[in-house]
Amino acid sequence: MSKFEQFLYRHLKLLRRSVQIAILLLMIAIPILNRHQINFVIGTFYSISIGHLDFADPTIVLQTILLHKSIYLPLLLAGILPLIIAMIFGRIFCSWMCPFNAMAEFIYWLRYKIKGRKARNLKEVPNPRQYPFWISFGISTSILMVFGIPLFTYVSAPGIISSQIADLLFSSELGLEVLLIFIILLIEFLFSRRLWCKYFCPIGIFLSLFRYKHTMQVQFDESKCIGNEKSSPCNAVCQFKLNPKKAGTFPFCHNCGDCVNICQNKYGKALSFSFHKKLNNQDEHKTTQNFS
Ligand code: SF4
Ligand code: SF4
Repeated sequence: MSKFEQFLYRHLKLLRRSVQIAILLLMIAIPILNRHQINFVIGTFYSISIGHLDFADPTIVLQTILLHKSIYLPLLLAGILPLIIAMIFGRIFCSWMCPFNAMAEFIYWLRYKIKGRKARNLKEVPNPRQYPFWISFGISTSILMVFGIPLFTYVSAPGIISSQIADLLFSSELGLEVLLIFIILLIEFLFSRRLWCKYFCPIGIFLSLFRYKHTMQVQFDESKCIGNEKSSPCNAVCQFKLNPKKAGTFPFCHNCGDCVNICQNKYGKALSFSFHKKLNNQDEHKTTQNFS
């Protein structure tokens, strides 16, 4: 492993937090700059223009195609870059950029601080079944198509948060959509951690579809692992309660790197990121054998 990789792994969490904070600040800065007629960057997480480049949330592009039954080429192109990034690096939009994820991580941290060890099981656990993930996407897409409702717009957490921040700064008003974010965070705090991103968000689900054998993923080298079934820190640190040592982290894993970071800093350096499918992920198609 190169020194650069070692540096990256050791500081992964710090880097990610820095990017998350920068994104949150940017969401506040963009409407303020626009208000002063500085329009180099305009938009929200629904769609954004940077100079002459346009980017769009791929689920909004999909929704437009499904609702209008036609393809508008500029919109299609705007949705392609996020998909290319997902194909190369996995769902890093979720773990590094999405403002909802930053909030949900804070709520998770709060829950952990208040409930202590009960909220974080240190024992090794199997990976969850993936069918609820796909069923939820099937249901939301069906509702969209059958009733013609732009459901993805209504439930896009990053879109809602960024547009509501802009509205607040422009008109000092908040829409009812904020309630949805509040309710999800409250449910996650009281009952179940990271429920939304794990099973319901159409953006996360759609991004995870764009994956192939060279998409970046966590790789496990069993010969270096010093954990055991009773103490599995990489498992414990994962907010989705995934076990990166076992098959079945797909489609939930969003490559946040928290498991890699703790393994590289404090344990056996058995986890790393790879663009080549190996070891623990070889048999992902067998995930139905896993238990929830
Ligand atoms: S799953 Fe959705 S809400 Fe969660 S981090 Fe990804 S885009 Fe954001
Ligand atoms: S398995 Fe690791 S990289 Fe994936 S979500 Fe969990 S902690 Fe993050």
